[in-house]
Amino acid sequence: MINPNSDVILSVKNLTANVDGTPILKGVNLEVKAGEIHAIMGRNGSGKSTFSKVLAGHPDYEVTGGEILYYGDNILDLEPDERALKGIFLAFQYPLEIPGVSNLDFLRVAYNSRQKALGLEELDTFDFEDLVIEKLGVVQMDAKFLDRSVNEGFSGGEKKRNEILQMALLEPKVAILDETDSGLDIDALRIVAGGVNQLANADNATILITHYQRLLDYIEPDYVHVMQAGQIVMSGGKELALKLEAEGYEFLEAEVTA
Ligand code: ADP
Ligand code: MG
Repeated sequence: MINPNSDVILSVKNLTANVDGTPILKGVNLEVKAGEIHAIMGRNGSGKSTFSKVLAGHPDYEVTGGEILYYGDNILDLEPDERALKGIFLAFQYPLEIPGVSNLDFLRVAYNSRQKALGLEELDTFDFEDLVIEKLGVVQMDAKFLDRSVNEGFSGGEKKRNEILQMALLEPKVAILDETDSGLDIDALRIVAGGVNQLANADNATILITHYQRLLDYIEPDYVHVMQAGQIVMSGGKELALKLEAEGYEFLEAEVTA
């Protein structure tokens, strides 16, 4: 939902970044306001995951120029956990498994770190369990997943639902979902998309990174951007995703070079 009076949450200006000395991001510009849902599409290898990891502060990515402003503050010097505590959430394309750590404990540690950073009350195991059980409904997840090790042996769809459950608990201001739709069957896709839609509100923003338009049948973006060779080369409304679906990414070459 576009609110013209809303604040800018994220402002990315001419961002460039290297991985292992190779330039991958070559000048990304993006402005995201409260209440907005943005989709970033693009071919495999265009730099979408790199962009999401640079936003989250992943240490393997070296920012070589430009800026990332979050509520007007430059966050480039902040560690990933500091960015997370400030409300930047990245759902990974390939969620990690953490054998030996129960999902409930993991979620509670993450939740309490955020509470502490905000000067809010931390919850003990019992109160936290009540809160999580309330949030399970967002992604129609069974409570049995709380006692299992984080993501260990979870199906692709269960892992993605678990990412959205984390998001429901942490209530980020900007959620970046990297290919959250990949590998999901249609039922899981509906559930995940439903969760994202429930969590989107006028004070937060969502960036959906996706290769396919089908996710956008369930989550309606305000803006669609196309990334190519480390830059956002085209932006439009949701009709741009339909055009990409119908014509593939080939039409870009003609339009971008025209
Ligand atoms: P996307 O998510 O759009 O598919 P990525 O951001 O994963 O694209 O990758 C962008 C480019 O960066 C690709 O060409 C990929 O091979 C390259 N790349 C990613 N990680 C590394 C790395 N660790 N070393 C060298 N190149 C990398
Ligand atoms: Mg990717």
